[in-house]
Amino acid sequence: MKRYLLLGVSVVLCLTLFLLSTEEDTAAEEDTTSVATHKTILIQNVNIVPMTHETILQKRSVLITDGVLEYIGTDDKYQIETADIVIDGSGQYLAPGLQDLHTHLDFMLDRSEPIGQHELKIFLSFGVTTILNQGEFAIPLGDGIEQLKQAIDSGSIPGPKLYTASYVRSPGMGTRLQTVTNKKEAGELVQASKAAGYEVMKVYHGISVESYEGVLEAAEKLNMPVIGHPLMALPLEKTLAMGLDLIAHAESFTYSYFNNEIQYDKIPDAVKTYLKYKPVIATTMVLEEKVSKLWGGDPTVFEHFISGPNMEFVHPTVIDDWRATVLDRWTGGDMDELNKINPFIQTYFKALHAAGAKFVMGTDGPNVIGVPGYGVHEELQYLTSLGLSPFEAIKIATKNAGEFLDEHQLSKIKSGTIEIGNKADLILIKSNPLNDVRNLLQISTVIAGNRLYDEKSIMMMKQQVSEYNANW
Ligand SMILES: [Zn+2]
Repeated sequence: MKRYLLLGVSVVLCLTLFLLSTEEDTAAEEDTTSVATHKTILIQNVNIVPMTHETILQKRSVLITDGVLEYIGTDDKYQIETADIVIDGSGQYLAPGLQDLHTHLDFMLDRSEPIGQHELKIFLSFGVTTILNQGEFAIPLGDGIEQLKQAIDSGSIPGPKLYTASYVRSPGMGTRLQTVTNKKEAGELVQASKAAGYEVMKVYHGISVESYEGVLEAAEKLNMPVIGHPLMALPLEKTLAMGLDLIAHAESFTYSYFNNEIQYDKIPDAVKTYLKYKPVIATTMVLEEKVSKLWGGDPTVFEHFISGPNMEFVHPTVIDDWRATVLDRWTGGDMDELNKINPFIQTYFKALHAAGAKFVMGTDGPNVIGVPGYGVHEELQYLTSLGLSPFEAIKIATKNAGEFLDEHQLSKIKSGTIEIGNKADLILIKSNPLNDVRNLLQISTVIAGNRLYDEKSIMMMKQQVSEYNANW
C-alpha cells in the first residue's frame, strides 16, 4: 500500500488524483462484508419508535417486503411462514435509520485505497442509512459517482443510500475547480452536473451575485434543489429570496445576517427574516464547537480530538490531512472576542429552533475531525445538550431529513419515519432512544431496504476498517 497525497477541502488539488483514479475497482473486489438481500423480513414483538410523533408503539410486528414497510401491527400469525428471515425484537426498539444531509466522503480522493468505501461502511455501522454528500473532488466532474451509487444500491459496497451535490466553489477557495464567474458559466456547470449524475447543487458564499443567481435559476429549471452558504455580498434576506432550499450550516447567520458581530439584540429580527422564507438548515453544530476550540491553533486540542472515540475508523491519511489543514486554519484574531462566537451561535440556534425553523442533520463529516456516522451521534448528543428533547433531536436526523428528500423528489420512496409504504431503512436498538439519544449507539441490527446487517456483520465491517487502518 503506497502512501499517496491526500487532499483536503482547503488544499490545492493536483492531477495526481486523476492518475490514480484508474484503480477504482480494487476495493470493491476484495470486499467480504457485502450481505445477501432478503425478499421478506419479519421483526416480531418489537417496540417501534415511528418518529411521526413522540410515541412508542409497543410489541408490534413489522413485515418488510422488497425493502418496503408492508405491514405494521399486532397480528404476526399469517406472515411468519412467508418471511425469509424472522427477527425476535423482544425488548428492543425499532427506529428509522439516521440520515446525514451534509457529508464529504473521501471516495473521490483516491481509488487505490478503499477509503471512501470504508467510510460508507462506517456510516452504516453507526446506523446511518442515508447521506447527502455535499461535493467532492471528482475529475472529470462526476467521475465514478454513478458507479458508486449503483454499487451501493446493488449491495456490492455496503453503505447508506447516497445522494450527491455538485458544488460551485468560491474563487480562490482551495481548488479553483468548479467555480464560475458569470451566469452563463453557472448554467453550464449546473447542466454538466446534472448530466454527470448529481441530483443537487451546492453553492458557496464567495461567488458573484450574478453567478449565484445563475446557479439557482439553472438548477430550478432542471429540478435540482440548491444547498448554499448564503452569499457574502448580499444581506441574508436577499439570498433567501433567491430561493435557496437548504442552508449548509446553522452558523451561516453569523456572517450573512450578523456581519460577524455578536448582536444578541438582533436575534429576533434574524429569526423573523428566516421565517419569511424558511429554507431547511443543516445543523453542523459540533463542527462549530470543534472549530471554536481550535481557534488559537493549540496542537494539544487537536490531539485531544483525534484521540476521541471511534477514531480507529478514520484512515490515517485523513487524520494527517486534518493535521495539515485544520490546525492553522483558524489562528490569529482576538481570542476573547472569538470565544464569544460559539455561545452566540448556540443562542440564535436555540431561538431559531424555538421559532419552528426546520433543521436537518448535518455533520460536515468526515471533514474537520469527524468520524463518519458516529458524528451523527455526537451531533444528536450536542443538540440535546442545547436543550432539545431526544425526540426533537432525532426528528432532525430522521423525519425532517426524509421530508427534505421527498419534497424535492430526490427519493423515490419516503423515508425517515416508520410508516407503511415507507422505505425500510431501520435500526434495531437495545434501549429506548426517546429517553436518551445515547441509546442510539446500542445498535443490534441495521436494515437498509432489503439488506440486513446483524450485530456480527456490523462488528465485521468495523473490524475490517479498523484493522486496515491500523496496518496501513
Ligand atoms: Zn461541508
